[in-house]
Amino acid sequence: MLTLNTDITKINRVGVVTAKKLKKLSIETVEDLLFYFPFRYEDFSVIKSIDNLVAGESANIVGQIELIQGKRSPRKRMHITEALVSDETESIKIIWFNQPFISKNLHVGDRVSLAGKVEDDYGGVIMKSPVYEKIKSPLPPLNERGQNNGVHTQGLVPNYHLTSNITQKQVRFLIKQIINLANDLIDWLPEETRKNLKLLKLGEAINKIHFPKNQEDINNARKRLAFDELFLVQMQSQLIKLSLRKSKAEKISFLEKETKDFVDSLSFRLTNHQRQASWEILQDIQKDKPMARLLEGDVGSGKTVVAMIAMFNTALNKKQAVLMVPTEILARQHFESISKMFSRSKIKMAVLTRSERRMSHNVERITQKDKISKKKMIEIIKNGEVDVIIGTHALIQEDIKFKNLSLVIIDEQHRFGVEQRKVLVDKSGNKKTVPHLLSMTATPIPRSLALALYGDLDISMIKEMPIGRKKIITKIVGEDKRAQAYSFIRDQVKMDRQVFVICPLIDFSDKLGVKSVKDEYEKLNKQVFPNLNIGILHGKMRAKEKERIMQDFIDKKIDILVATTVIEVGVDIPNASVMMIEGADRFGLAQLHQFRGRVGRSEHQSYCLLFTESEASKTLNRLTALVSNNDGFSLAEIDLKSRGPGEVYGTMQKGFPELKIARLFDYELMKLAKSEAEKLIEKDSSLNNHQELKEKIGEWEDKVHLE
Ligand code: ADP
Ligand code: MG
Repeated sequence: MLTLNTDITKINRVGVVTAKKLKKLSIETVEDLLFYFPFRYEDFSVIKSIDNLVAGESANIVGQIELIQGKRSPRKRMHITEALVSDETESIKIIWFNQPFISKNLHVGDRVSLAGKVEDDYGGVIMKSPVYEKIKSPLPPLNERGQNNGVHTQGLVPNYHLTSNITQKQVRFLIKQIINLANDLIDWLPEETRKNLKLLKLGEAINKIHFPKNQEDINNARKRLAFDELFLVQMQSQLIKLSLRKSKAEKISFLEKETKDFVDSLSFRLTNHQRQASWEILQDIQKDKPMARLLEGDVGSGKTVVAMIAMFNTALNKKQAVLMVPTEILARQHFESISKMFSRSKIKMAVLTRSERRMSHNVERITQKDKISKKKMIEIIKNGEVDVIIGTHALIQEDIKFKNLSLVIIDEQHRFGVEQRKVLVDKSGNKKTVPHLLSMTATPIPRSLALALYGDLDISMIKEMPIGRKKIITKIVGEDKRAQAYSFIRDQVKMDRQVFVICPLIDFSDKLGVKSVKDEYEKLNKQVFPNLNIGILHGKMRAKEKERIMQDFIDKKIDILVATTVIEVGVDIPNASVMMIEGADRFGLAQLHQFRGRVGRSEHQSYCLLFTESEASKTLNRLTALVSNNDGFSLAEIDLKSRGPGEVYGTMQKGFPELKIARLFDYELMKLAKSEAEKLIEKDSSLNNHQELKEKIGEWEDKVHLE
């Protein structure tokens, strides 16, 4: 007897070969097959009479075979099956190519249902290679046909994403055989939630997703199944949140006077959004529950200072704070700029990366003598002789223990996992508390997506730029204007500005003509700007080397820096005014926007020049979006619509829930899923009254972890 767990090979007509192919689609059991959803439907819900057929349309007809024969076309060495099919109104000629078995399957007198495109045939009409299936005879009257007789050619016919030579027909045939088992599925969604939202029962939804009678069936089935996925995502987030709520954190009290003095000492005034975000964070960390917050803000919106205000208060509370960044360059840069801003306070800072260990306090400028040994570094962190530590992953990898780590800030990294948090808890120096956590990202994540990815986090947003920033002028530059662009760059350097040139590759490029940093460096250095100072920066260089180059650029010893994507995140060179991007079509919009964010960080008018050799209109349209749009959030939406989240946010794919049917843009459904999950946790936090759901979540988490 077939059950949900039955191996797929036990189904009628699945042999070893088919089973292998199905396995490629991750279908191994009956249940897997039920959850293999169609991605679209062909509408053959109206059966046309043959005399009504019009060339150019897709149609379903039902008729009787009058003639059928297979033959080889003499010249083309192709097999052709020709048939004449008629209903009570008219007959039509049908042709199939290279399907010799058809003339063995179908015989004169058979009733068939045919679905496919109607084409013009010397003034008449013909159908070429339609999908066919035999149906029960005798034929019912015209207006009653299509009532569940045909699976492939009538009604709303599901289409599945298929690979490895499995046909739509095969899949439909298999699902048809097992669809009644859908009623055995355990409906793990709490009944109350299901009723609240007027969702179908699980078995019903599965039935309807495969064999809908009308569009309404499809909509209802999709809604239920999509809700399921989003609900599981949200349940997981809420459970993480719950476990955090149960743990304790150090209270960090807000020192109002000191904070105000510190903010007043800055060379700029905070924007309203910076104030708001700082306030939200300070509120959170005053509590004895660990903060879990995401700070989102476009490149250049000034997230660092918000982080500093939190670290400042932490340090004045005699507790330690950590700022973790993805690259050494960024660590050093934050260290230098933050040291300067903290220079009037007594706060002691250190930077720790693989290649650098320094300590500073009360110094305007960090020097060689600030370098300390690894042993010393471990010691001062452990003894609490340092308040604010900035570093890369070296912070959690090396043999580091803190005295009382109470605030962790993660910059430009999208997902700080539960595991990493655990590591920090172990190192924090206080087994009873968990540090407050703030993640900062410039990757604009639309709200719905943020809810899906970070349902466990509260979100603060900086949506305005500091005043006085000029809009960056963005231009797509054709090859014919290259000389002009170079002369423009020369003028900018004369005005004492600096320039970035980004190339997609590091090494000398092959025949593809893709620009490499090494090529461009040589060319610019020797031919184009022999009188200017050109620097080169890429990921294969040694860390020390990279640091030196960046420092030279900051010190204006370099006019033009030719680089790969290594400069993508974070670095702040306010004097740079031109971002020139070679092979711009090879980057995503979100990424191009990040590059562009490296300039326009001061009062100087800045420019972004996009070079592309592609003339494809799709590419140009994409780049045009960047020209006309300065807002990272809108660009991310555009990018997401054309490329999908995996590609847009490549680096953070790890955090993505695998969604088969829900769309990340479905903000409304996502919100519902979130509020239902919250309600449920409120009532039954241990899920003891929802065992089926509990099991489902466990199953689902296992699956996510395996990927
Ligand atoms: P991001 O959000 O990309 O990390 P940063 O924190 O690096 O941005 O800030 C970008 C630049 O803007 C820095 O040079 C910083 O000193 C400056 N800045 C930050 N806030 C303001 C403000 N309110 N007014 C003027 N400049 C600011
Ligand atoms: Mg930053």
